[in-house]
Amino acid sequence: MTFSHLLATLDLGFVTLKNRIMMGSMHSGLELLDRPFARLAAFYGERARGGAGLIVTGGYAPNDTGRIEDGGPIFHHADDIPSHRLITDRVHREGGKILLQILHTGRYAKDPSIVGVSDIRSRINPRVPRVLSSEEITQYVEDYANTAVLARSAGYDGVEVMGSEGYLINQFLARRTNNRGDDWGGSYENRMRFALEVVRRIRARVGADFILMYRISCIDLVEGGATGAETAELAQRLEAAGVSLFNTGVGWHEAHIPTIAYMVPRGAWRFAVRNITDHVKVPVVASNRINTPEVAEDIIAGGDAHMVSLARSMLADPEFAAKVQAGRPDTINTCIGCNQACLDFIFKGKPTRCLVNPRAGRELDGEEAPRRTGASRKVAVVGAGPGGLSAAVSAAQLGHQVTLYEAGTDIGGQMNLAKRVPDKTEFHELIRYYRTRLADLNIAVRLNTRATPEALKAAGFDAVVVATGIGPRTPNIEGIDHPMVIPYADLLAGRRQAGPRVAILGAGGIGYDAAMLLLHGHGDSAPDTATFLAKWGVDTSLRAPGGLLPGGPRFPAPAHQITLFQRKPGAMGRSLGLTSGWVLRAELEGSGVRCIPGVSYRKIDDAGLHYRLGDEDQVLAVDSVIICTGQEPLDELSTALGALSIPAHAIGGARQAAELDAFAAIAAGNEVAATL
Ligand code: NAP
Ligand code: SF4
Repeated sequence: MTFSHLLATLDLGFVTLKNRIMMGSMHSGLELLDRPFARLAAFYGERARGGAGLIVTGGYAPNDTGRIEDGGPIFHHADDIPSHRLITDRVHREGGKILLQILHTGRYAKDPSIVGVSDIRSRINPRVPRVLSSEEITQYVEDYANTAVLARSAGYDGVEVMGSEGYLINQFLARRTNNRGDDWGGSYENRMRFALEVVRRIRARVGADFILMYRISCIDLVEGGATGAETAELAQRLEAAGVSLFNTGVGWHEAHIPTIAYMVPRGAWRFAVRNITDHVKVPVVASNRINTPEVAEDIIAGGDAHMVSLARSMLADPEFAAKVQAGRPDTINTCIGCNQACLDFIFKGKPTRCLVNPRAGRELDGEEAPRRTGASRKVAVVGAGPGGLSAAVSAAQLGHQVTLYEAGTDIGGQMNLAKRVPDKTEFHELIRYYRTRLADLNIAVRLNTRATPEALKAAGFDAVVVATGIGPRTPNIEGIDHPMVIPYADLLAGRRQAGPRVAILGAGGIGYDAAMLLLHGHGDSAPDTATFLAKWGVDTSLRAPGGLLPGGPRFPAPAHQITLFQRKPGAMGRSLGLTSGWVLRAELEGSGVRCIPGVSYRKIDDAGLHYRLGDEDQVLAVDSVIICTGQEPLDELSTALGALSIPAHAIGGARQAAELDAFAAIAAGNEVAATL
């Protein structure tokens, strides 16, 4: 495939962008660490060097109440200009262009001084906002413009006004959050006033030759949100007020519909972006779940947008654009949409990392980048799951001679099971990435080979990385050998089928994966956009307010009658990802899956599963019992290697089964390579 649309320049009149690939704004959390601006300069600098046509910073508040919390990013004093200069100088040195995002969080702020358009609380924030006075609103317009002027002085190429995701500007626009009786509320004309005044004022203060991008909510996905016609009208009015290009946002943060996690099909929201593109003359940027150059090219070639925004995809691979330019899209480390180390970390108050890219968030020149400490060594890596693959690739990059052993028929380890879970097909990309890296780095791969200590000794390896992974934990339950019992790996791999009535023991990530597979069948093909949008009740005609069809989600009738058990009392699914677990819980609930916590398992026999709940013994008649009760490390090799005096480094699940988690395994593989 050629990428002529994606790689074309974009002329904004007073400035030309070198391609159509934008790194969208994301909260990095790097400001929580020491030397935040140096870290941010390195972070954005690496992405500029990697060829991004435009970069947008994380959100900076224009005044104190705009911050998400005390200590959050803010830019409203000239004193901060030299710090921001570190970022802009670095990006410009690398040949990039960068915008500062101006974000007022409004009623999403976690601070006690929270303000809002009206005194209406958000469902994701326990605090009721204090209502802004008319005078304060006028001052806020000035505050936005002040930050834009400061941004220009600090060397930014422009600003992005954050007008989506349910933040302050959205809160003015929507009836659900704006019941004011003055000039800032009531009619749509009045509700649009704040957004329009902010744009007009910024344009008046910064002049004509400064990029003013507005991130417009192309579909709100909340009740009482805008219709497509209202959004189109807003876009036209904003264009007339001075916007140079539109970025798009999808759904407020309080929406009940997933917008960016892995279960959202790639490019699913392009129909809503198109509504903006069709109504304005300035260029429009599409966003959300655009993670491959093929999808990006198709969106632009199809006329849905002029540019694409990749945020997490640039975290996963800073060289995304350069690799497309070089004709090597197969070498892109694709974002798999897991949210596990980026958004989930940010929501836990930690700086962002990335599951597939251990270097993300650690770019500060040279620091923590693995370096070879001694001579090139002959290294064996045993096990080609995520930890072993990461170790093999990282070690080879450092110049070691690497041989990778895998007992199975292919590389991938547990990822080969994960990719069969419905909606988790993105794991194919991670396997493809490693396959390409193994070939490019000339790593010797020995499939169908169980590496014995003696063979490793005879081959003369200087060091062995043991990444042999995990084996399923078999719980001590009477009747665990009953024919109705199915280990999760057999179910996920398709080696065994479950009957109509199913009990799942264990409600960790794999218990939920097993339930999803039973509901939807094996996920051998990528999720389908039309099915996804219909299931979640999205109005693709954009006539309904917020783009929501009446009646909410429409989950299909389940193929199995499923009951999910756990021994712990209390809510189920607590170990799932913060920003994706709620989707699974909602889907299971909507599909009638029963969840029973606080049980003890007694036995399994022809009558079904016998368990105790409180003081009562119960029997659930089932046809199949799926065992998802965790894992145990598989590491006999390290001990045997130690006896032969070969240095062995156990990583990932082999070291600690809890590290079956792919993020930890890939990070450990990367780190161990630096110690060889
Ligand atoms: P897990 O999260 O540890 O869950 C296993 C469950 O089995 C536990 O919740 C535990 O709950 C139960 N259990 C443990 N020992 C038991 C025993 N002896 N008898 C009966 N029940 C027992 O493990 P997992 O679901 O296999 O997931 C493993 C790893 O894969 C996790 O680290 C996770 O990060 C990763 N993963 C994540 C996702 C995701 O969606 N984020 C998906 C798949 C895998 P009770 O003891 O309360 O019953
Ligand atoms: Fe993408 Fe997952 Fe990395 Fe986040 S952690 S950028 S979702 S691959």
